[in-house]
Amino acid sequence: MFFFDRLDLDRRFRLLRKELEIRNISNELRGWCFDSPPIEPPSRAILFGVSELAMRYCEKMRDIYLKRVLNIKPPPTIKMARGIVLHTINRETLSIIKKSLFSGNVKSGSELIENLLPLTNEIVDRAILEIEKLFSSKINEENKLRIEASAFYRFLIVQAAAKVDQTISKYPHSDIDSIISIAIPPIVERKVDGSLIGLSRELSVDIYTPFNAIADLKTGDIREFHPYAATGYALAIEAEENIPIDFGFIIYVQIEPTRLVPSFRMKYFVISDELRREFLEIRDEAYEIVSIGRDPGKPIKCPDYCPYYSVCE
Ligand code: SF4
Repeated sequence: MFFFDRLDLDRRFRLLRKELEIRNISNELRGWCFDSPPIEPPSRAILFGVSELAMRYCEKMRDIYLKRVLNIKPPPTIKMARGIVLHTINRETLSIIKKSLFSGNVKSGSELIENLLPLTNEIVDRAILEIEKLFSSKINEENKLRIEASAFYRFLIVQAAAKVDQTISKYPHSDIDSIISIAIPPIVERKVDGSLIGLSRELSVDIYTPFNAIADLKTGDIREFHPYAATGYALAIEAEENIPIDFGFIIYVQIEPTRLVPSFRMKYFVISDELRREFLEIRDEAYEIVSIGRDPGKPIKCPDYCPYYSVCE
């Protein structure tokens, strides 16, 4: 992720550390207390994906009942497709940039641009194909999505190229390992086994390593429940690795096809006791719905952006 300013991020985390000193996180709400309530799951026989629990469009949790008890998947939408495609582009771009730099064929930012921008269509085609396979259908508004995906890819390459040049210019004698570690923000995708706390065995988590913070890329509108995902991942890492994860940040990316330059908004937060308790309550309630097959019913008003809207209404 090249789209944030490292210095700005470091300043934000300084503020969060102050907030943490005041609010503190209770030991009993750390993932490593997985053998006692409230972290201990009601059972480890049913494991949930983090986004399954965290994406709380439905306050009654009927989505869990539909998916897990009635086996109904939400109908694919352009919003889902956009989210998956832009995540794929982000992942592929990072990987192709690293490969190019390690290959030794690219020695400057401008060479990175010359080599990688011509691959735009290829990378976008692959991402679109992947989503079509997943949905087993063509995507509505495919052209619009293509324009957004190309804009995102090109933006990432240009940002990476600028960072590579800045790094080489500042440290002219550095080797490629150091250039990559300085130019490419140290966000690593890590696989985590969440089963100790009732979550899936192979979670994929983005960690911003200097602060052991969870990073989450979002492509849709800002929703109040978004911090739950970082909370679930934080609990899983604490359980598996026994290290504290105190902070989360969400990067909201938006691409207007007419402007072609993505815009970003960031949300930073402490993964507080409140968030931890709320996430665990959602997990326990989901377990109850699935284990006894109870239909929790509908809320008074369903949000029309709920992925199951066309199923329930
Ligand atoms: S459409 Fe309504 S009842 Fe169905 S899952 Fe969404 S919010 Fe819940």
